[in-house]
Amino acid sequence: MTNSISTRLAVLGSGPAGYTAAIYAARAGLSPILIQGITPGGQLTTTTDVENYPGFRDVIQGPWLMEEMQAQAEHVGTKVVWDHVASVDFSRRPFVLTGDSGTEYHADAVVIATGAQAKYLGLPSEEHMKGRGVSACATCDGFFYRGKKVAVIGGGNTAVEEALYLTNHSHDVTLIHRRDSLRAEKILQDRLFAHPNINILWDSEIAEFVGGGDPEALIGLDIKSKLTGEVSRLEVEGAFVAIGHKPATELFVGQIELDGDGYIKVAPGSTKTNIEGIFACGDVMDKIYRQAVTAAGTGCMAALDAEKYLAAQEYEALAAE
Ligand code: NAP
Repeated sequence: MTNSISTRLAVLGSGPAGYTAAIYAARAGLSPILIQGITPGGQLTTTTDVENYPGFRDVIQGPWLMEEMQAQAEHVGTKVVWDHVASVDFSRRPFVLTGDSGTEYHADAVVIATGAQAKYLGLPSEEHMKGRGVSACATCDGFFYRGKKVAVIGGGNTAVEEALYLTNHSHDVTLIHRRDSLRAEKILQDRLFAHPNINILWDSEIAEFVGGGDPEALIGLDIKSKLTGEVSRLEVEGAFVAIGHKPATELFVGQIELDGDGYIKVAPGSTKTNIEGIFACGDVMDKIYRQAVTAAGTGCMAALDAEKYLAAQEYEALAAE
């Protein structure tokens, strides 16, 4: 027999957006259920030091921050469930979410906070050097490379913005791109080309991320020219992979409106999706800011939007009686 749980509000995802939505919803008396997904805690559990989340003077650890958010969400009345939603049916009311566990969740409203994941090149040496000099977020980790040589890989808006951002910390930034032209917006390209501390390596790909020392840290990149096939070493202590993100929206294809990059579309200035009663927050709907604090901010908005929606539903039901 299928196990079935009914709730007024289901929150999908356990990053800063999901937990913040749950905290606000629980404090509004909605007794939400939060379904954690495959990576409880989200992207912050794969970073270590966090120095830009307000309220903490000292460096804090990403996994610790997420444990605290979970504890706070539970403390105020959220039921946190370790399950992964395998399918959704948003054509029914209440909405139906089916977990890998076989449980069916019936929810009057849903907040989607399933996040996004940075894309990586997929080299074993890249995987090995993650957290030892290889990162996918200059805003998060750039500060740790003050006065050091760094590189950014990619040619889109993110790569160019990250290269420009890194000049706040480094006097030697190299942008490495696989083609001979960038896809970033022209205004960003102009700023990049005009910057005296940024070099560009065109038609180049990473052959190897090179570590050294004890404890091991990034000491360079072996870069292969796509024109000549020649491999040369670029000495850097930080490498930022900026080749795009993938929002976790496979589950919603055909059910909810997505943009051309696969992000959930929301009405401007709100977290409302094209389906009444379904809200989206955090990196799954934000391709620009992608910070823990902005995700938490939109998580709060989603809870407030959901609460308003549920109150209106209740009022209509009472009026109809
Ligand atoms: P993107 O536009 O998809 O660009 C990814 C870049 O990485 C491209 O230059 C691509 O090269 C390169 N790349 C992809 N796979 C690669 C691989 N395996 N090896 C080497 N290079 C690879 O991603 P994004 O820059 O993260 O931007 C995503 C979306 O967010 C875009 O719509 C962007 O406009 C938007 N965004 C906007 C802002 C803003 O408005 N301020 C800021 C950030 C992002 P090719 O060019 O050769 O394909």
